[in-house]
Amino acid sequence: MFKKIQAFCLLSAFALSVTACSTGAPAADQGGKLKKDDGKTVIGFSLDTLEEERWKKDRDIFVSKAKGLGAEVKVQAANGDDAKQISQAENLISQGVDVLVVVPHNAEVAAAIVEKAHKEGVKVLSYDRLIKNSDVDLYLSFDNERVGEMQAKAIVEKAPKGNYALIEGADTDNNAHLFKKGQMKVLKPLVDKGDIKIVYDQWTKEWDPANALANMENALTANQNKIDAVVAANDGTAGGAIQALTAQKLAGKVPVSGQDAELAGIKRIVEGTQTMTVYKPIKLIAEKAAELAVSLAKGEKVTTDKTVNNGKKDIPSILLDPIVVTKENIDATVVADGFHKKEDIDKK
Ligand code: BGC
Repeated sequence: MFKKIQAFCLLSAFALSVTACSTGAPAADQGGKLKKDDGKTVIGFSLDTLEEERWKKDRDIFVSKAKGLGAEVKVQAANGDDAKQISQAENLISQGVDVLVVVPHNAEVAAAIVEKAHKEGVKVLSYDRLIKNSDVDLYLSFDNERVGEMQAKAIVEKAPKGNYALIEGADTDNNAHLFKKGQMKVLKPLVDKGDIKIVYDQWTKEWDPANALANMENALTANQNKIDAVVAANDGTAGGAIQALTAQKLAGKVPVSGQDAELAGIKRIVEGTQTMTVYKPIKLIAEKAAELAVSLAKGEKVTTDKTVNNGKKDIPSILLDPIVVTKENIDATVVADGFHKKEDIDKK
């Protein structure tokens, strides 16, 4: 019971830190045209991928919340293909969606989607990942620099000195750069002091665990296995890195970070091969996004208390708080929030 209450307070605290309010402004789009009023709000949800466990949760929670608000959602996933994501978005626009919610595969390339949508008076919400150099209408994510800081801090606590390997995310994803920026805030002073040496630093193409495995193998080979710590950008890449460490009988001896609180990541934390993960309550972002998408679709004015510059302009933004998960607080975080069931974590 105590844990349930704790989790509830945790969630309410995040909810309160978000202040986006709608004013009942007239339903005018950017071009000043009045939106067609057929009564039904239709949202297009364009995802880069459904590969990582989280994205299916994002989709399901978003769709169910939007339905509850009386909207219909058309979902498309592009399997990491930029051309496909653009053509799927064009398709959604031509089907007459009232608003587009986009998880871009490529932060820069996706600017074309915003341009095409705006030509048809359709507003665009950048979901979890920022669309750069565009007039995107709204950005909703977690504090991604903070995620990186959390990852590096947890690893530095276990390995305050030594050789570090950085297994970063996909170069095409703005978040991957923010995670690294946050990590470097923690690591740079220690590198300057001479305590830490970054002996390997690579992006992981497409966030693919197989590429992370190959990168980690290279890191180990190039350094005769003398790696003392691994900062991995998410649980997928951590899984790949840990597989490479396992082959060298180093798993459990070298601290490894992660992110997403995937079931596999949590299980590795329990067994001791992964040090931490970062839990981002998907329910908060997906439900908030559904509410905001409906507001944008209705032409209501949405205000936020923050902006993030995307290279072209300051984008109204909402950044939710991430949470560190280690062996010690699994029950009080992901289990208490209903993100994972204890029996699933314990299942061998
Ligand atoms: C998300 C992470 C996810 C990664 C790979 C990032 O943009 O923020 O949660 O693990 O993409 O899909």
